[in-house]
Amino acid sequence: MQTSFTPQQLSDPHVAESEAILRKCVHCGFCTATCPTYVTLGNELDSPRGRIYLIKDMLENGRPADKEIVTHIDRCLSCLACMTTCPSGVHYMHLVDHARAHIEKTYRRPVLDRALRAMLAKILPYPARFRAALKLAALGRPFAPLMRRVPGLRPVSAMLALAPRAVPPTDNASGSIAPSGERRGRVALLTGCAQSVLDPGINAATARLLSRLGIEVVRNPAGEGCCGALVHHMGREDEALDAARRNVDAWTREIDKGGLDAIIITTSGCGTTVKDYGHMLRLDPDYAEKAARIAALARDVTEYLVTLDLPVPAIEPGVAVAYHSACSMQHGQKVTRQPRELLAKAGFIVREPREGHLCCGSAGTYNILQPEISAKLRDRKVKNIEATEAAIVATGNIGCMTQIGSATAIPIVHTVELLDWAFGGPRPQRLPETISIGPATMMAAE
Ligand code: SF4
Ligand code: SF4
Repeated sequence: MQTSFTPQQLSDPHVAESEAILRKCVHCGFCTATCPTYVTLGNELDSPRGRIYLIKDMLENGRPADKEIVTHIDRCLSCLACMTTCPSGVHYMHLVDHARAHIEKTYRRPVLDRALRAMLAKILPYPARFRAALKLAALGRPFAPLMRRVPGLRPVSAMLALAPRAVPPTDNASGSIAPSGERRGRVALLTGCAQSVLDPGINAATARLLSRLGIEVVRNPAGEGCCGALVHHMGREDEALDAARRNVDAWTREIDKGGLDAIIITTSGCGTTVKDYGHMLRLDPDYAEKAARIAALARDVTEYLVTLDLPVPAIEPGVAVAYHSACSMQHGQKVTRQPRELLAKAGFIVREPREGHLCCGSAGTYNILQPEISAKLRDRKVKNIEATEAAIVATGNIGCMTQIGSATAIPIVHTVELLDWAFGGPRPQRLPETISIGPATMMAAE
């Protein structure tokens, strides 16, 4: 794509980067076929190519964002299916991140939208605040259908509908879990924000499994917090970079203390962001190098587990599991083989839902901010999952678990909970007693 930025515009490194991305696009339109919003809405401006044109026009003319561009960029899920499809290597993620930051700086949203976004940014990344909000949401739940009738309140209605009926007990444990048996490695486990409140059992299963495999697990090192993804996707760049710096500092101290083989992440949305820390902080001379080192250590839990010696479990009979690959897992991190291989190795029969490349509509805060499109994508996803007739759904992202779990009776768990169970851990709490895998073997590594 030809561009016409002035030398002065290109002296801004963010603009220079976006210009380089824009120049790679050859207008072929292959990306439209796999874009969930184009597939759902059928409007070119809700396709990657359409959004790329809108962003180019806004940046090239150096103008503030307007209602039209905000509408179409807000509808983008940042699912990154377009990046998987694009034959030209267009880095849409960095382009849309820049566009969102530009929108945040130059566009004044309607008051309700502003208030909602500010509330989400000030609550979701903080577990104590999020927990309190969920308890309040339980009181407001009966009013959700009423709010759905008022267009401006639909996001609030969606938020109430998504809130769980009961909030599990907090697990704020910190410090190291010593490995059982010979020590084979040392990792930090990102506690995260929303996941730690909605389902602390996921990180507990991860720590148990790793510990049984001989890995020391460092939890909650001082200063660690939300990865910054939630605010990053809302264009709140300063808050996202602050979160990244805090985590870089926390994990760097752990590296200095006892070394780290990896930073283990169990929410793929967070994994995509932590792996991008090197890029996010590239212009900060105090952090660029440290952030690149941290990003290089970030691993989805399944990426790390495939490097370890797993025992052969005796599971019978094979339980059918529909594996839902989160967008941030398959498109953001390109982690596709490992979760399926591990589930199969653990004795499960892995089934692939149709249209696996399409987003379930969760996408961070998307299911709150864009409830109509999100619900369409959720229903489409659930239909495809239910068609597999699997007994369990497994995925690696709490957002997808909440989204899909809100519309199906099939129990949905994190992949690592099934692996922990199959390799000697307890049954995941969300699974009914009727699903049995038979007696698991003891760990061969012990
Ligand atoms: S990130 Fe997803 S929703 Fe956004 S343009 Fe790309 S494919 Fe479409
Ligand atoms: S597939 Fe890539 S090159 Fe083709 S229009 Fe989409 S972003 Fe541009």
